[in-house]
Amino acid sequence: MVSDGSLLVRTLCVKSSARNQAERGEHGVEIGPRLYPDAREGDAGSGGATIVAGVTTSTADLAARYRKVLPSFLAPYYPEPISIDHGEGSNVFDLDGNRYLDFFGGVLTTMIGHSHPAVTAAVQEQAAKVMHTSTLYLSEPMIEFAEMVCDASGIPDARVYFTPSGSEANDAAILMATSYRKSNQILAIRNSYHGRSFATQAVTSHSSWKSTAISGLQVQFVQGGYRLRSPYRDLPDDEFTSACVDDLVQLLDMTSAGDVAAMIAEPIQGVGGFATPPDGMFGAFGKELANRGILFISDEVQTGWGRTGDHFWGYQAHDIVPDMLTFAKGVGNGITLAGVVARAEIMDTIDVLNFSTFGGNPLSAAAGIATLRTVQDEDLQGNAKAMGERFHEAMQATADDTPWIAEMRGRGLMWAFEICEPGGVEPDKARTADFHEACRRHGLLVGKGGLYGNVVRLAPMLNVTADEMDEGVAALQAAVADVS
Ligand code: PMP
Repeated sequence: MVSDGSLLVRTLCVKSSARNQAERGEHGVEIGPRLYPDAREGDAGSGGATIVAGVTTSTADLAARYRKVLPSFLAPYYPEPISIDHGEGSNVFDLDGNRYLDFFGGVLTTMIGHSHPAVTAAVQEQAAKVMHTSTLYLSEPMIEFAEMVCDASGIPDARVYFTPSGSEANDAAILMATSYRKSNQILAIRNSYHGRSFATQAVTSHSSWKSTAISGLQVQFVQGGYRLRSPYRDLPDDEFTSACVDDLVQLLDMTSAGDVAAMIAEPIQGVGGFATPPDGMFGAFGKELANRGILFISDEVQTGWGRTGDHFWGYQAHDIVPDMLTFAKGVGNGITLAGVVARAEIMDTIDVLNFSTFGGNPLSAAAGIATLRTVQDEDLQGNAKAMGERFHEAMQATADDTPWIAEMRGRGLMWAFEICEPGGVEPDKARTADFHEACRRHGLLVGKGGLYGNVVRLAPMLNVTADEMDEGVAALQAAVADVS
């Protein structure tokens, strides 16, 4: 963690929810404490405390309260969890006044920086006008954002259906594909994650995240881009792709009833540990799918909006235009916002009423417009490419020289380190936890993931600066040294 004494004093005296804009400098930096008249210093427990009018909240209190009211399948990172009080740009600050460089963005969701002035202003302005209308009425923010998304999607004659989350977006895509094709057969990729809902669990293969095998869908999983654990891993790129295509063809010929509805795939598997296939692999799949009328759904929940640097959408690395794409996470920069884009003929296959109460909510749409406009106007895809290359150049040698890093993989601003027993591919979950904790000690927030929980994942903000990137690299290298 990066300690800043003066910040600690200030944070001790401020409750974030009461913090008002006037107390912030031009870029949202606090310029002075707001002292509450009867604030008193309380027991900070194992962490610091936020003290407001006699109410004391400590990190330890929050951890205990979290455990009491949230389900056991939810768990905060770190044995001593971090409480995030507020954020600014690439940084977050905890209740104890510690600053952390955030290279995970709450799972790739804060995409252009915490408290981004344009997004904050758009949300505040919209909240003061009207917060909810539903699709029963015309709402300019929703329509404007829909136009921007359809335009950016690359899908011809596009329509977008908004949902609150990625799971619901994928669910809707599966509903549309199965209705359009009148088939319940779906293909997905091994090591995939597509959401927590009943239908999306069926197309999720990642066993740590698959809570049921019960489904009305018939799903088959094909070989894909998780190369380190693929039977084809030693093959060069084009042969690797051919082997995966052969597997797909064999599966279709030998095991399906011949009328498969769709394949759903993440261009880079997110939860699966940023498993990155060779460029062109999904295009090669797509030819076989198109021959049989099978739709291709690109799950862009993690890879969309320029995150991969070389492309605006992950699918664009594969010489394919998907029939449908789904998005969520980053485009609201933290506000719930997701959806599915499809050609009109596919979307309009739903010929009864279908309605998502919060889908296209004006508050979400306002956040989406501000975020997407910033990404486009400031060429954040270009920044993702440049900063991604900077990171790659700075870290590859460290990864190569570290025997327990089995692989460094990714592109743009999605990078992962798979951690294994030195010299092999036996997952080393304990060392992954140590490395994750060491990053935190050095002031860097990163994520975990991968099939065996043995992958450390980094996804800096799309507008991360060179200085921030260098700070992150230094922290990461110090953490590697600690764990070696
Ligand atoms: N698809 C992918 C690729 C994801 O990474 C996620 C979330 N991790 C989802 C779908 C589900 O999104 P949500 O959590 O918003 O339902």
